[in-house]
Amino acid sequence: MLHITSFIDGKFVPPISGQFLDNVDPAAGTVYSKVPDSDARDVDAAVKAAQAAFPGWAATPAAERSRILLAIAQGIEDNLDDLARAECIDTGKPLRLARTVDIPRAASNFRFFATAILHFHSEAYRTDQLALNYTLRQPRGVAGLISPWNLPLYLFTWKVAPALATGNTAVAKPSELTPMTAHLLADICNKAGLPPGVLNIVHGLGSKVGAAIVAHPAIRTISFTGGTATGAEIARTAAPLFKKVTLELGGKNPNVIFADADMETALATGLRSSFENQGQICLCGSRILVEKPAYSAFVERLVERTTKLKVGDPLEEDTDQGAVVSKNHFDKVMSYLRLAREEGGKILCGGEAAKMSGRCAAGYFIRPTVIVDLPMQCRTNQEEIFGPVVTITPFEGEEQAIEMANGVPYGLSATLWTRDLNRAHRVAERLESGTVWVNCWLLRDLRTPFGGMKQSGVGREGGEEALRFFTEPKTVCVKY
Ligand code: NAD
Repeated sequence: MLHITSFIDGKFVPPISGQFLDNVDPAAGTVYSKVPDSDARDVDAAVKAAQAAFPGWAATPAAERSRILLAIAQGIEDNLDDLARAECIDTGKPLRLARTVDIPRAASNFRFFATAILHFHSEAYRTDQLALNYTLRQPRGVAGLISPWNLPLYLFTWKVAPALATGNTAVAKPSELTPMTAHLLADICNKAGLPPGVLNIVHGLGSKVGAAIVAHPAIRTISFTGGTATGAEIARTAAPLFKKVTLELGGKNPNVIFADADMETALATGLRSSFENQGQICLCGSRILVEKPAYSAFVERLVERTTKLKVGDPLEEDTDQGAVVSKNHFDKVMSYLRLAREEGGKILCGGEAAKMSGRCAAGYFIRPTVIVDLPMQCRTNQEEIFGPVVTITPFEGEEQAIEMANGVPYGLSATLWTRDLNRAHRVAERLESGTVWVNCWLLRDLRTPFGGMKQSGVGREGGEEALRFFTEPKTVCVKY
């Protein structure tokens, strides 16, 4: 069985403890590789390598850093099939999705930041005829990068690429549930000519490796994507150490559909935004709000389409819905289905595990589920479930739509469907969300700031925001 290794100072190394964790294929429910059970000692070795590599990498001309990052992007594209298969087996997501979305987007992340760094600028101000002020934006040193399991390579590279482009070195940790694509990326980085120690990948548990990264005194910058409770813990550790932190956390995103919307597009996209990646995208619209005149027809048509989604082996081309990521996560989502019933919800389709056969007989499959008749304040409508589960709730008029959309502790993204241009702008302005999509979903321009409000996080990633996050501004004032 393959034993994944960490990647420290350009070399593949086993954990100092000698211990490994099981890596489970959630579609089969079986262990298919072993992941290092690393700890603070491995993190410390990675930090030392990253510190040693920092002066050289920071002094490397931007054009050369760019060239290497572009070679990594090319390496990802050249290995698309292997990476997509690895991601499919790690996560249980349909292979088609990994091949067409996740892996190509990981390559785009490197391409984007490799070229963005060539255009990154700093400012100069003249104070009357007295002084010239200019701002240096310098790399901050060793960055700690921690990512989740739902879009493993995409979210990992979304942090690695800007950190490295700006001249930082990094100690990065993918989720212990989905380590394989980061492991393959390490080899791609070596082949692309990334100097040893610039990117170090330490595999293992959040409570050991993640916590050690956050607490390490030599890591002054932390970029984290994951759950809100973990984000709060990281903030508690990092705040008194005065680290610079971005936290990209959970969501409970509203998908607001006005009666004047293009219903066909709202339905087709609503189906995707509810269930893509088994609902395990932080940006999924898990609360659908529909204006009363359109409510009944929308519910009927969405349920009809949901029941046609094919739940199956993620390796098969025609599978729409694969497995959820783990047994623990399966149990969590199933517990929310029980809760929804207890809270008086009516389950119109799904609501149960999907029984599979053959290779997938012991896998973690849940039928895509549509629930109605729940009040907005109940736990099912307030807490992030992060599975193939949506609720649909009717509303009356703009004010109620906004009140319901904003009436959760989260504020990551929102989707808005209307043909009324004025209303689109009016409502978008009042939604408490880091991103508002109007008549679309998941369209991304990598230049835009990305992140959440309220309990969905602090700070922003993306474009200029990321380049600024990973650099330290220093003002130089020269009197003349
Ligand atoms: P998680 O918080 O359990 O884990 C995320 C990462 O943090 C993993 O690598 C984990 O090992 C590590 N970790 C766990 N405990 C830690 C600790 N105490 N200190 C440091 N690191 C620790 O989240 P998850 O279950 O992997 O991911 C799902 C969550 O991520 C969902 O809530 C989802 O909404 C969120 N998410 C948010 C975004 C976003 O951009 N806002 C994107 C994707 C996923």
